[in-house]
Amino acid sequence: RKTESTSNSIVSLSNSVAIGGEAIVIIGGPCAVESLEQMETIARELKSAPIQALRGGVYKPRTSPYSFQGSGLAGLEILATVRQRYDLPVVTEVMAISQIEEIAQYADMLQVGSRNMQNFDLLKALGQTDKPILLKRGLAATIEEFVMAAEYIMSHGNPNVVLCERGIRSFDNYTRNVLDLGAVAALKQITHLPVIVDPSHAAGRRELIADLSRAAIACGADGLIIECHPEPDQSVSDAQQALSIESMMQLVQSVQPVAKAV
Ligand code: PEP
Ligand code: MN
Repeated sequence: RKTESTSNSIVSLSNSVAIGGEAIVIIGGPCAVESLEQMETIARELKSAPIQALRGGVYKPRTSPYSFQGSGLAGLEILATVRQRYDLPVVTEVMAISQIEEIAQYADMLQVGSRNMQNFDLLKALGQTDKPILLKRGLAATIEEFVMAAEYIMSHGNPNVVLCERGIRSFDNYTRNVLDLGAVAALKQITHLPVIVDPSHAAGRRELIADLSRAAIACGADGLIIECHPEPDQSVSDAQQALSIESMMQLVQSVQPVAKAV
């Protein structure tokens, strides 16, 4: 990979994992934490893929209030167990100011979901923590609005922000969203922050995720966050975009030559 200029920020998740440095970082895991067995299987199988961090939502921003809302504290305890057992940092979503303190005790990185990208009070409160923040682009946010959301966190005292492009709304419903790789290239030029890509929520269809992942790395992304599941079709949320463990392993291998080339 190109040597990054010294002014680019590097955000550390643990002693050994940092986003924005020479190595790309791949974060893998289910949409939602469902059970210890599910998380154990993913961590055990993908540790050697290798992935560098685990994801899993325990507070889920579901479109319908009647859909599964997440496993809450029980899910955080599952994350803490696999985090320790497999020595992998974990990322999980924080939806409200009232959850910050609790989640910060279990997770290495706090995710702000698309639906909360302009929840300014939440952003300000996260600015008062020292936890790395994964800020996802809003469903229909401009690049300027996205950068300003990051500024809310940083200007309140927390410089540890990673931007995540996860697709934006458009007219075509063949894919769930449209992955904006132009934004990835632009953000790498206009900000010093690490940028990662979530091809899972962008595509919404598992068969497109590997191609989008390689394209994202070619555009300069510092990493990827990808949904996978031991039994993809059984996922309680976002089943159509969940990769099998085997597909995830193949994906991790297939992006490496691209990472070396850029
Ligand atoms: C997620 O990552 O689980 C998620 C809900 O993503 P987004 O906020 O990008 O829709
Ligand atoms: Mn999801």
